[in-house]
Amino acid sequence: MAAEIIVEVTKTFSGRTPIRAGFRYPVEASTVLILFGPSGSGKTTILRSVAGLEWPEEGTIQFVSRVWLDTRSRIKVSPQERHIGYMAQDYALFPNYSVAGNIAYGLGELTLVERQKRVQEMVELFHLTGLEDAKPRELSGGQQQRVALARAVAPRPQLLLLDEPLSALDAPTRAQLRGELRGLLKQLALPSIIVTHDWAEALTLGDVMAVMHEGAILQVGAPQEVFSRPANADVARVVGVETVVQGTLIEAREGLATVRVGEISLTAVAVENVGSDVFVCIRAEDVTLEPAGAGLTSARNHLVGTVSAITSLGALARVTIECGFPLVAVITRSALTELGLTVGASVRASFKAGSAHLISRQ
Ligand code: ADP
Ligand code: MG
Repeated sequence: MAAEIIVEVTKTFSGRTPIRAGFRYPVEASTVLILFGPSGSGKTTILRSVAGLEWPEEGTIQFVSRVWLDTRSRIKVSPQERHIGYMAQDYALFPNYSVAGNIAYGLGELTLVERQKRVQEMVELFHLTGLEDAKPRELSGGQQQRVALARAVAPRPQLLLLDEPLSALDAPTRAQLRGELRGLLKQLALPSIIVTHDWAEALTLGDVMAVMHEGAILQVGAPQEVFSRPANADVARVVGVETVVQGTLIEAREGLATVRVGEISLTAVAVENVGSDVFVCIRAEDVTLEPAGAGLTSARNHLVGTVSAITSLGALARVTIECGFPLVAVITRSALTELGLTVGASVRASFKAGSAHLISRQ
């Protein structure tokens, strides 16, 4: 049997809806699980439960061959014995410790010489050379993030838990560190669980993704699968991006990128350092539908296709158009009626270059 992580827990904060999480997945050296969901859905609570910082009133947590929690047989393994690297959302760096001091924090079991060697290794790995004696307040947001990550991985934990690791950073830094973090996690060969509500992060970093909403796990699967094939309307609402297809970047010029998806050529806004293998991500709300023969709008992308599915979302409807790849649009029910859309009907879908987001597929 493959090594697995099994989480099956219920945690209730008084007066609130219980948070119930159930998922299991095979874990290899560098498997990254994404816990994805809106604020308040219970992601941090689950992560803290895995870390042993929160005690669910019921359930089991198992990591590979070790049971960390089993409320029935009263097994409660302490956070220290779990050998976990945990990074809180606000980093929680010690303000009075230097960079080296912060990194050395969990290394008390090593000899002084070993500890200095490990700190030096981490300083190099996380590009912190020259900053060893600096205090956290003297660092940029990106540097603080790297110190927090270095501190979490320095004791060579067997599992790394990161709570919204990039959310405190400004958008350009976030985009840059997203790619670096992916490379680093592969290099460390350390399984990890990463909490995020950012779909670009989920797609870049994740091997498996669990979608949380109001204290429940709604779907578990490969990120691209979950984004492009949400199991139900709740998941679709939570993830918000319903078209994720693989493409090849052909050229980028004057800020616009030409991307091939099968036989189709799309125009997207160019992104730096994205590589030639990309995911093209299009939010369903950004796709407009018109009769196949109508005059063209100013949008860059116009694709004629056939309606392959229509699902009701109350006042809205989700329409899947087969136009060389399955493209999902969400439109009002009245628009659906006006356009006379039924399965098999011909329709033209349009979206702006700025609505086709490119994510590196490495
Ligand atoms: P997320 O990380 O997805 O934003 P959290 O796990 O932090 O969600 O919180 C889930 C729910 O549990 C929220 O309604 C939150 O207010 C509540 N909650 C979290 N921690 C506590 C706590 N220590 N005491 C009471 N309620 C809490
Ligand atoms: Mg949280």
